[in-house]
Amino acid sequence: MAPPLMTVIGSLNMDLITCTSRVPAAGETLISQSFDTGSGGKGANQAVACARLSRIKSHQTGNVTVRLVGAVGNDNFGHDLVQGLYGDGIDTSGVQAKAGERTGAAVIIVEQQTGENRILISPNANFSLRPSDFTNLPAPLPDLIILQLEIPLDTTLQIIRIAGEHRIDVLLNPAPAQELPNWAYAAVKHLIVNESEAAIITNPKDKNPDWTKAGEHFNSIVALGAQHVIITLGARGVIYLETRQKKLWQFDAKNVEVVDTTAAGDTFVGAYAVAVMTFAKGKEDFAAAVKWANAAAAKTVERRGAQAAIPWLDEVEAYEA
Ligand code: ADP
Repeated sequence: MAPPLMTVIGSLNMDLITCTSRVPAAGETLISQSFDTGSGGKGANQAVACARLSRIKSHQTGNVTVRLVGAVGNDNFGHDLVQGLYGDGIDTSGVQAKAGERTGAAVIIVEQQTGENRILISPNANFSLRPSDFTNLPAPLPDLIILQLEIPLDTTLQIIRIAGEHRIDVLLNPAPAQELPNWAYAAVKHLIVNESEAAIITNPKDKNPDWTKAGEHFNSIVALGAQHVIITLGARGVIYLETRQKKLWQFDAKNVEVVDTTAAGDTFVGAYAVAVMTFAKGKEDFAAAVKWANAAAAKTVERRGAQAAIPWLDEVEAYEA
């Protein structure tokens, strides 16, 4: 039997990463500690996480097939990004190099004292993906579609709509956070958000709600209508809510040394998606998928960069042992 196919439709960005001891104030110039470029973009990062976390590092193929659909410019950044993805075993035939566009770029400032990052994105070619490009789904039809919000919102909504018509499961990671129409949350099977995204989409009265406790904010998450809702809590781990039965699981974060939190959320999404398509599938054990994704994401936090920090399957298993 052919392995399950996961299609990620989303952004590719070249990351321009500066590390600084502290973030400069307005009007202030500081000498940074380092500068580097790296492959990023939430769509590409999540595709890489799916690919790496479905195979051991020394193997060419894994137990899922991963496809990325997106757009870059016809420039060096775009070429380098696609080459990297190809090297990770990702099917990049759906990534168009668009004439007259520049490849998406993200300026990332990492504050060394805290490991926190600040990110400014220029979408460029990512925003050339239009709803009319998705009047049908890119063939072959996948078992799971993974989406973020770094391509135009109306395009994302069109993909959710058409996936529903084909009864294909959608995993949505609504980041960077924007409010979506109510029907869209109900149309996705898996919704993965961090705390600030959860707050933006549910607008709780208490500005810092404890998501693990029952209450109005909790009910508003259930009311969104997605069946499996996961709220990642950074260094405090993750909660998983099965909204049909209103059951909640909570997992503490792994105790690791924080180097750079870039792509922690993307690794979590990819790991969860792979688990849902593989070991968690038969038993529908989504809590086990969340637990494993929590371990995979922690590994990313220990390393610098976006795609550069994403682990392979054997690294997470070794880490868990
Ligand atoms: P995002 O990167 O999208 O903002 P989070 O900060 O919530 O998302 O992190 C996503 C996941 O990465 C967490 O649920 C956890 O599994 C892992 N993670 C993040 N920060 C840490 C940390 N300091 N220690 C261990 N794991 C972490």
